Amino acid sequence: MKYIFVTGGVVSSLGKGLTAAALGTLLENRGLRIALQKFDPYLNVDPGTMNPYQHGEVYVLDDGAETDLDLGHYERFTNVKLTRFNNLTSGQVYQTVLDKERRGDYLGKTVQVIPHVTDEIQNRIYQVAEQTKADVVITEIGGTTGDIEGLPFLEAIREFALEVGYNNALFIHVTFVPYIKAAGELKTKPTQQSVAKLREIGIAPHILICRCERPLDKDLRQKISMFCNVPFEAVIEEKDVDHSIYEVPLMLQRERLDDLVCRQLHLDTGVASMTHWQEIIRKLIAPQHRVRIGVVGKYIELQDAYKSVYEAIIHGGVANDCGVEIVKVDAEEIEREGPEKVLKSLGGVLVPGGFGERGIEGKVLAAQYAREHKIPYLGLCLGMQIATIEFARNVLKLADAHSAEFNPNTPHPVIALLNEQRQVTKMGGTMRLGAQPCQLLVGSNAARLYGAFVVNERHRHRYEFNNEYRARFEQAGFVISGTSPDGSLVELIELPDHPYFMASQFHPEFRSKPHQPHPLFKGFIAAAHAQIHQKPAKS
Ligand code: GLN
Repeated sequence: MKYIFVTGGVVSSLGKGLTAAALGTLLENRGLRIALQKFDPYLNVDPGTMNPYQHGEVYVLDDGAETDLDLGHYERFTNVKLTRFNNLTSGQVYQTVLDKERRGDYLGKTVQVIPHVTDEIQNRIYQVAEQTKADVVITEIGGTTGDIEGLPFLEAIREFALEVGYNNALFIHVTFVPYIKAAGELKTKPTQQSVAKLREIGIAPHILICRCERPLDKDLRQKISMFCNVPFEAVIEEKDVDHSIYEVPLMLQRERLDDLVCRQLHLDTGVASMTHWQEIIRKLIAPQHRVRIGVVGKYIELQDAYKSVYEAIIHGGVANDCGVEIVKVDAEEIEREGPEKVLKSLGGVLVPGGFGERGIEGKVLAAQYAREHKIPYLGLCLGMQIATIEFARNVLKLADAHSAEFNPNTPHPVIALLNEQRQVTKMGGTMRLGAQPCQLLVGSNAARLYGAFVVNERHRHRYEFNNEYRARFEQAGFVISGTSPDGSLVELIELPDHPYFMASQFHPEFRSKPHQPHPLFKGFIAAAHAQIHQKPAKS
């Protein structure tokens, strides 16, 4: 078994996760079985209780684990199956160590970072290797080299490499080579310093992946090679992509990263066949059609808060050979300006998941506008609850209908707390989480799009459609097209007499990949495109 460790230097947000995922794509397409995991040095047990300003999106796995958004990249770029074991935080490590200490597992000993904390970290690498039986385990270390929190992880992987033998372990350092405008030059010093920092800890990277705005010329590569003590060919350029993150695997393949990795680790495989990936890129760069989709949220200024949603929209575009311009709409702007001004030029409106009251009324107005003006609508989790509230207020004329989350005193709590949630007092990891089966209604648009009657989709919510109102909704033409198999939980709703009005209590975005676009997104973009194909949209 072979192990690759991906560390990051100089600054955060370099796209380490993306790079690890892209390497995973290349190795998988060489016929290797791979595993990917992420270590996060923060003390939270998982990111589930952090807000998107702190952490970006919380990515949910089948088993209900609330994880780092890099795991989303792993699943989108590869075919790996991820579980809660694939994301380890310092919080989990310390929790395990302290539980063991209380149980008496270390009786007589002083419990220390080395070896007790580092052993726990190493155990996790072995555990993932054992469970996945992968040929190559890729482990990404979150944070930036030099962070105090990251030290136990770096120490752990240093020891690990020694233990499995240097032929079986490879260190890849993703670094930043900034372009200084005033000097008109790319600068290598930050990279030299961050490699020096790694060497202080005893890790000598084998490969440097240099993130840069401009191409690295030969002299610069030579300089980096010399000062950082890596071979010339192991200085890899990873320039900012022009169009799409899905170009990264092809870019790294051109730089021969996968060749190098396989040579270093003595993995004997053919070249990666990437033709299917090239076709995806072709559709992204030069699509036949174009459409504009509005995402109505409250974290629109953040790149990462709705990561999987944005990606799934793009995949829906690929499936329709349709370039999508995503228009980020601030729900509070709709409250101030009214929906018409912001939404009228859009091919489709999407309301993603969310928590908290801010912007809720703007989202309700967006759903109403989309329903009344026959603009394709896709609601995800909160977006389904919003569509329900809107229908209750404006079609059923239930004044002040609301979700009990936002107005506990509403006369019509059409969205109410799930029964299983009533006793819950702890916040971490206690929502309805993970993949659950959903039965689709025969003859519904959902069943047609999925081409199936039972599907498995991932959840992350505490509130649900209130069954006391079910009959009234259905009589008014609100179609409940997906429920839990026992029929008790509403999972999916749709409106007939509308080009596309679909909303799910689950999160389909976590299941979409560029090469396997999610049916609900595929249908949404198809409808949005059909809607506007008369008037050419701006690119
Ligand atoms: N806040 C809502 C709930 O808890 C929706 C959650 C979500 O959109 N993920 O049910």
